[in-house]
Amino acid sequence: MKTKTVEMVIAPQRYHWVGDGFRVNNYIPSTYGLDMERMSPFVLMDYNSKYTFGPSEKPKGVGVHPHRGFETVTIAYKGRIEHHDSSGGGGIIGEGDVQWMTAASGILHKEFHEREWSKKGGELQMVQLWVNLPAKHKMSNPRYQPIENAKMGRYLLGNNQGEIEVIAGEYMGMKGSAQTFSPMHLFNAKLKKGAEANFSFPENYNTALLIIEGSVVVNGTEEAPTDNFVLMANDGEQFTVEATDDAVVLILSGEPLNEPIAAQGPFVMNTRAELMEAYEDFHSGKFGYLED
Ligand code: MN
Repeated sequence: MKTKTVEMVIAPQRYHWVGDGFRVNNYIPSTYGLDMERMSPFVLMDYNSKYTFGPSEKPKGVGVHPHRGFETVTIAYKGRIEHHDSSGGGGIIGEGDVQWMTAASGILHKEFHEREWSKKGGELQMVQLWVNLPAKHKMSNPRYQPIENAKMGRYLLGNNQGEIEVIAGEYMGMKGSAQTFSPMHLFNAKLKKGAEANFSFPENYNTALLIIEGSVVVNGTEEAPTDNFVLMANDGEQFTVEATDDAVVLILSGEPLNEPIAAQGPFVMNTRAELMEAYEDFHSGKFGYLED
C-alpha cells in the first residue's frame, strides 16, 4: 500500500456571512485553489469555526431558500441549529448531531440558531457540506436522515487513545448509519494527545481533513493546527493522523462522480438547461411554500 500524501494545508483567512447566523470559511470550492470537481462528491464545505453569539430573542440564521440536485450535511460541534422546510419537516440539530438532508428534486428550507439557545447565546461551531448527487438521483424525492450522536458508529482505539465516530461509510468494520447515493466515508476522529490513527481509502477517492479541535501531524511530518483544512493527494491509499494535543478531526473521503457540474446559487445540476429549469420551477412555486 502506498502513502496518500498531503497536497496542501490551508489556514483560514477569509470569512463571509451566510445570513446573519453563520460566519463561515469556504474551503470547498475556494479561492485556495479547490474547485467543485477537486473534492467531488463534496462540492461545498462551509466551516463556521468557533464564534460567540450574544443573546438574541430573534434567532439569527438564513431565511427561506431552495436547493436542488444535492444533499446538505450539517454537523453541529457547538451550539444548536433549527431547521424547517416546505414539506412540513423540521428539526433541531443538537451538539454532536448531524442532519443529512437530501434536497434532490427540490425543497425550500430555512436554517436558524435554535430558539432557546439563541436567547442565551453562546459559542457556535458547525460544518455544512454539500454532497453532490449522481445525475440519475438528482430528481429523487427529498428525504432526511437525522443522525443523533448516540446513534453513530464508534470504533474505539486501543489503550484509551480515543475513538472514531463513523457518520457514513466504514472504519475498521464499524459502519455509519447514513445512507448515501455514492461511496463515501465521513468520520470524526476524536484523538487523545499522543494518539495515532491510521486511515486507508482508495487512491482515487477525494480526501480531506478539517481540524475541529486541537492539532495533528499527518504522515509524521505535516503539521495542521485548529481550523486548518488538509487536502490529501490522489497518489496512494494510507495515511496516519497523530494528535499533538487532544484533537477532533473531521475526515471526508469519497469516490468522485466524474459527471459535469453546472452550479449556481442554491442549485447543483449537470447542465445549464437543468439550472434554468431549477430557477423556473422555483419561481413558479414548484418547490412548495414556506413562511418566513
Ligand atoms: Mn440551505
